[in-house]
Amino acid sequence: MLKKTQCILALSICIMALQAQQEQVPQTVQNRPPQWDPRSTEWYYPVPEKVVPGQGVKPPSDAIILFDGTDLSKWESANRNNPGAAAEWEVRNGELRVVPGKGTIRTKDYFGDCQLHIEFKSPAPGSHNGQDRGNSGIMLQSRYEIQVLDGDNNPTYVNGMVGSVYKQSAPLVNAYTRNGEWQIYDIYWRAPRFGTGGELESPAMVTVVLNGVVVQNNYILKGSTPYTGLPSYTPHGRMPLTLQDHGTEVAFRNIWIRNL
Ligand code: MG
Repeated sequence: MLKKTQCILALSICIMALQAQQEQVPQTVQNRPPQWDPRSTEWYYPVPEKVVPGQGVKPPSDAIILFDGTDLSKWESANRNNPGAAAEWEVRNGELRVVPGKGTIRTKDYFGDCQLHIEFKSPAPGSHNGQDRGNSGIMLQSRYEIQVLDGDNNPTYVNGMVGSVYKQSAPLVNAYTRNGEWQIYDIYWRAPRFGTGGELESPAMVTVVLNGVVVQNNYILKGSTPYTGLPSYTPHGRMPLTLQDHGTEVAFRNIWIRNL
């Protein structure tokens, strides 16, 4: 009888010791999930499409070529007096040149999220300075301007200089090279999202690379980029890409875009 009591007592002591030990185990270890099979966090489909990267100035294989140096077939006029008419800019020596007074042009296609490559060259400055020197613009979705301007020793308001999101965000640095040289923009655009009632669900965001240098790093836009007044959003869907006629003979080349 004594032996039985001793056994029960010993067992109770063991259980109490085990409980005490468990209480000493850190909470984080107790909550650790069961051991994972590493394969459970790997996936194989859908397989990303094979794309041949561009080499030098060549576009990648899946890009939509908006201007290859030959014609304006992908473009039309955005001139408010004659929208949708033939674009009247000049194609010469593989370049697309603004013809001052002929108005802004736009793509016939509509775009949302995209990767855009575009090269531009400012004309000789003459006596022009500031916003009058080599001004054009790349209007994403027809309303959000990435500034095109001569950035070679050309002081102006910094949120309107080359590399700026016009009147919203000055570039992180001035990566323009020299007047007369081709400048290369690579732009990564996330379109704004609007709800069914037209309310803004998420704003637009842009990363801009000028000549291989990041000048806008995931900048979140406050809205459109007006010359006068404050930015604001109005609901829209996919829209054309627009190039601005600001009265100077800026040249463009090698324009391609990828839908994202
Ligand atoms: Mg402009």
